[in-house]
Amino acid sequence: MSGILDGKFILVAGVTLDTSIGFAVAKFAQEQGATVLVSNFGQALRITRRIVKRLPELPAVIELDVTDAEHLAALPDAVREALGPDAKLDGVVHSIAYGNPETLLGGKFLDGPWEDVAQAVQVSAYSLKSLAVACRPLMSTGGSVVGLTFDASVAWPVYDWMGVAKAGLESCARYLARDLGGDGIRVNLVSAGPLRTLAAKAIPGFEDLESMWSTKAPLGWDNTDQEPTARAVCALLSDLFPATTGEIVHVDGGFHAMGA
Ligand code: NAP
Repeated sequence: MSGILDGKFILVAGVTLDTSIGFAVAKFAQEQGATVLVSNFGQALRITRRIVKRLPELPAVIELDVTDAEHLAALPDAVREALGPDAKLDGVVHSIAYGNPETLLGGKFLDGPWEDVAQAVQVSAYSLKSLAVACRPLMSTGGSVVGLTFDASVAWPVYDWMGVAKAGLESCARYLARDLGGDGIRVNLVSAGPLRTLAAKAIPGFEDLESMWSTKAPLGWDNTDQEPTARAVCALLSDLFPATTGEIVHVDGGFHAMGA
């Protein structure tokens, strides 16, 4: 059976647990014929190596802290080590965010200290550029970069400085689309509704966002089902969107389109 990602090589950055959106992307991408590599960083790498055994095929796992210049510089060689000397990447998924929940989220907007804001912006927004540029030598025949956002066009309860970081991510994706388009590299984001992942559960009061979603989204919303988001990411990684870049695709049950 043929899949939409047959013969493609995809790096999914940001897989910790099987609830991670990145895990669902890796799973669906494999089901659609892709060879997948997974990355994570620090102590969680150990957990990632265990969790990826639950995927249909065991992927190579690479260490990548997106704030570490040495890791970024070593990334092409790490991919070649995993896939062979002629390795290439057709797709890169940025499924990464971090903001200190104690100081930046859950109603702390007016007090969030700059050092923590700077870290949130570096890990959650600037890193899309860092990751795309690190992978560029492996994408000489073009490719697709896809990131994950939470609609940053409005202010939300509790999301606070992560909302500002996401606004930066959304803008970063547009500038990357501009600068990498000449290489045939598309850059798009999927704007997902609230999903019960490690990152989401760390946000104090996130359940308030979740509860409003299921009542307002015209299609309804299951905050435990990562697959609709993963499917959209894989569609953007595939050849089905050859002329789409700088775009944000909403996978939110239609919530964003409703006024009330
Ligand atoms: P998740 O499972 O916690 O994934 C976030 C990943 O980012 C983790 O693997 C985390 O690793 C990794 N990460 C953090 N700092 C990093 C760094 N410096 N270098 C490399 N990796 C780093 O949560 P998720 O919800 O699936 O998040 C994936 C993406 O979806 C994020 O961009 C998130 O904002 C976005 N998103 C989530 C929702 C939602 O409701 N869950 C909605 C819309 C968009 P550690 O576990 O080791 O920290």
